[in-house]
Amino acid sequence: MRSPHGALRRAAVIANPVKFPDVDLLRHQLTQVCREHGWDDPWWALTTVEDPGGTQTERALEAGCDLVVPVGGDGTVRAVASSLIGTDVPLGLVPGGTGNLLARNLDLPVHSRREALAVAITGRDRRIDVGQVRAWEEDGTLHEEHFLVMAGVGMDAAVMEATDAEVKRRMGWLAYLGSAVRLSGDQPVVAGIRLDDEELVTRKVRSVVFGNVGRVQGGMPVLPDALVDDGRLDTAIVAPRGITGWPGVAASMLTRGSLGGQNATYHQGDRVDVRLAEPTPAQVDGDPLGRVTRMAARVLPGALTVRVRSDH
Ligand SMILES: [Mg+2]
Repeated sequence: MRSPHGALRRAAVIANPVKFPDVDLLRHQLTQVCREHGWDDPWWALTTVEDPGGTQTERALEAGCDLVVPVGGDGTVRAVASSLIGTDVPLGLVPGGTGNLLARNLDLPVHSRREALAVAITGRDRRIDVGQVRAWEEDGTLHEEHFLVMAGVGMDAAVMEATDAEVKRRMGWLAYLGSAVRLSGDQPVVAGIRLDDEELVTRKVRSVVFGNVGRVQGGMPVLPDALVDDGRLDTAIVAPRGITGWPGVAASMLTRGSLGGQNATYHQGDRVDVRLAEPTPAQVDGDPLGRVTRMAARVLPGALTVRVRSDH
């Protein structure tokens, strides 16, 4: 297939070599799929610890690639997607590592790299929302990050930080909310939470999770109403059982009962600002951000183009 300029279309593949014992085999497999669909051999780059995908994506855009495909874990997808925001170049999702959570939420193939790349080449473009967080450590250090699946502060992030890779692989993001709480003896933290322009409410919480999509590994809906393209951010506030009520914002919230022995309340909006009484672990798409005393999230509606199945 040729681009409007007459050249063969070309995908960029940005792979995390830590996830693949045989990178040459991976390259061979993906090159074959491109050729089968009449595309040029892929532009190719590997991630490093210092550069998990952002710079490689910028180089792929400069090279005029028609599609950018991260192949690694959710962290690689996040890094590549962050650099595609604001462009019309689509993200192609090919499974690698654990998670593949955005792909699962978009009903994309997660067991076959060949099938997934074929969808990325032949599918249609769909615009989805992206989450943006700003998080401050106690010393004022600011982290600015994007997320595609979920970000959060509290026990969920503490488990992500503490859990070894094998446990994380087995539990996946089920560690996220209820399971996370059960594993930990830590106390809840006092948080001041502002949802959109509602008044600030102070509450003891286990975690606050911001979601761009609703499902985690195993299909468990953490945020049952979250949609990836509704221009809204879904927030789950998980608090110890027994502390109920949400003065001031009760009308805008929907209580869905308990989760993992906790009370969980849900909110949809454009942005959330959480201030914490003590440094508390934070994460974005499963990557630890360190301990923060404030974390603010907002939605960037339709900020990213993703290739999905043509019949979806
Ligand atoms: Mg949404």
